[in-house]
Amino acid sequence: MSPGRRILDFELASTPEERAFQRRLSDFLDRELTEEVRRQHPLDLGLGPEGREFMRRLGAAGFLGIGWPEQYGGVGGSIAMEIILSQEFARREAYLPNSVARLMAGPVILRHGSERMKCEFLPRIAAGEVEFGLGYTEPPAGSDLAAMQMRAVRDGEYYIINGQKVFNTQSHFADYHWLAARTDVDAPRHRAISLFVVDQRAPGITINPIHTLGGERTNAVFYDDVKVHESRLVGEPNRGFYYMIEAIEHERLMLSQNIRLRNFLDRLTNYMRTALRDGAPLAKHPAARQRLARMEAELEAALCFEAHALFLLREGKTIESEGTVVKLVGSELRQRFAYDALDILGAFGRLEEGSKWAPLMGEAARMSRATVIETIGGGTSEVLRNVVAYRGLRLPRDP
Ligand SMILES: Cc1cc2nc3c(=O)[nH]c(=O)nc-3n(C[C@H](O)[C@H](O)[C@H](O)COP(=O)(O)OP(=O)(O)OC[C@H]3O[C@@H](n4cnc5c(N)ncnc54)[C@H](O)[C@@H]3O)c2cc1C
Repeated sequence: MSPGRRILDFELASTPEERAFQRRLSDFLDRELTEEVRRQHPLDLGLGPEGREFMRRLGAAGFLGIGWPEQYGGVGGSIAMEIILSQEFARREAYLPNSVARLMAGPVILRHGSERMKCEFLPRIAAGEVEFGLGYTEPPAGSDLAAMQMRAVRDGEYYIINGQKVFNTQSHFADYHWLAARTDVDAPRHRAISLFVVDQRAPGITINPIHTLGGERTNAVFYDDVKVHESRLVGEPNRGFYYMIEAIEHERLMLSQNIRLRNFLDRLTNYMRTALRDGAPLAKHPAARQRLARMEAELEAALCFEAHALFLLREGKTIESEGTVVKLVGSELRQRFAYDALDILGAFGRLEEGSKWAPLMGEAARMSRATVIETIGGGTSEVLRNVVAYRGLRLPRDP
């Protein structure tokens, strides 16, 4: 058992209710999490019928809407339960569905949305009935989101939205677009952006696929005079940028989950125990052993960073840049893991799933392609290092 697991088991689930929650969740996942559902998200096939059904069951069993008031379909509960939920999925190498709705849209609507919006969306998110897609990035505005150009212009009780988003990953299967657009051209750029909830299939929206190296589908999304009712404006106009960054450390932390790598490392270690390289046991190959041991040490270090940040969150402390550190360290580690594994496995490691000669069913090859996005999405490594420099180390904001 890894130290990460010990810390999480004994400190995060510290009350009888939390331990009962963890047991109930574990039983639920043993019963309901099929291999088919588990693989939908990593391969980013979108939420197919099995995934949707699984999400609804998760909601019906009371595992979504943790910490939200019951009047909005929430189930109460502590931040520790939310952490347990995400860690339990990570341990099973499964992706918890609907992260945009659970971690971004839901909490912002709860804090800033109108009563009408809360009643319309929160119960359906908590019931696992609706999926949201993230609509922030544009061709000129990725790291620098305040540079976005998409315009939402007021027209009576509607907003008319025009412009283009890019890399909007869930748009081809989401029900709603969690959309940021410029609502003021004269104000300073951080005070000119608003958030909207848009029906993803509204007239005027075109969704074009972008297929990535990792096999994941993402999308370019075009808005052409899309009419959105003012009731779909989230909170106050021109406050969207602040809403977006409000909970960013929390999101980065909850989306990290380095424990995922533990199972992969175990599979690689087991493979090394039995495989041969040039007729000799791979387990005795000096370079492979060194590499594997380094992976183990790096994983333990990453798990400690993560456990520390989760512990602060669990104790109700404000996290400053700890979520960013966890995302930065974990994403770079996942890439290194893939390349280290390829080195250990040798030429056969490059073979993809489906080849009878592919070690670990092509997992290292797949991982080396799929982890390219890790150091880009959710903030690039360069940008995150800047965040750690100014927020964590209190250096001046700009170099
Ligand atoms: C597969 C994929 C899925 C995605 N899914 C979504 C999604 O669902 N929704 C969504 O809204 N977005 C999504 N994104 C967008 C993602 O968040 C952005 O790609 C990311 O924020 C980087 O923005 P950019 O691509 O415009 O790169 P840029 O911001 O143009 O950066 C280019 C390079 O410059 C560096 N750089 C930029 N600014 C600085 C700085 N200040 N200091 C030092 N270096 C800097 C960056 O690190 C990077 O190396 C996705 C991206 C990909 C690739």
